[in-house]
Amino acid sequence: MADPGAARPGDRPAGSAGRADQKKPSFLADLFAPVGGFGVTFATMFRKLETEEYPEEKRPTQPRYHGRHQLNRHPDGLEKCVGCELCAWACPADAILVEGASNDDSDGGAGRFSPGERYGRVYQINYLRCIFCGLCIEACPTRALTMTNFYELADNNRADLIFTKDQLLAPLQEGMLTPPHPMVDGLEERDYYQGKVARATPEQEAWVKERDAQPEDGLAPSGDPVEGVDTVTSRQVGRDTTEAVRR
Ligand code: SF4
Ligand code: SF4
Repeated sequence: MADPGAARPGDRPAGSAGRADQKKPSFLADLFAPVGGFGVTFATMFRKLETEEYPEEKRPTQPRYHGRHQLNRHPDGLEKCVGCELCAWACPADAILVEGASNDDSDGGAGRFSPGERYGRVYQINYLRCIFCGLCIEACPTRALTMTNFYELADNNRADLIFTKDQLLAPLQEGMLTPPHPMVDGLEERDYYQGKVARATPEQEAWVKERDAQPEDGLAPSGDPVEGVDTVTSRQVGRDTTEAVRR
């Protein structure tokens, strides 16, 4: 039986380990070896500069850039958010705070803000925590939450980087009305998602006109207090509540 440790034809002699095969570096290579690492530096020095004049000149982002969030609306102005909190649960950075509430169409109720059973009464995103991963928008079942291309989110204090619902809500477009207001007559929630609503109807417009003509929480449409009515506005209550839940 052959000895496993025995040398085979073609093996290098033990101890020399191929050193004899290595080429000796030339004189010039030896001379420049200590500064060889500067090659990249020198090459970069003669490359054309690409200076971006930010913030005077802003380059457009990639189309699918993950920027600031937006809470979207239906074409009649109702909010798409149904206050389900799935976005908050999906967020790995615990940056989202949602408090849902029931839409209340009854007389004297808060009114209807979304076509669903509920809506997002409080909605906040803390941009000190957000890592712009986009998991929240993947989790949203109604496409209420999407991301824009806006990226200028620096500030000099913590409080201003906690965005509230009024900052995140998409602006009203042509044909939209400010909620609360009723849904389009004869349609259900699913009809909104099936694209059957193109804009606010004349009935909705009339309803909103009548609502805006009513003195609200002690204020006439002119903004003057109405005698004998509580003068604390619902806007103030909403703002105080929002401040209270800031983290
Ligand atoms: S983008 Fe990511 S980190 Fe930011 S709020 Fe959404 S889930 Fe949270
Ligand atoms: S944004 Fe979407 S996921 Fe988040 S609470 Fe609203 S509907 Fe639910």
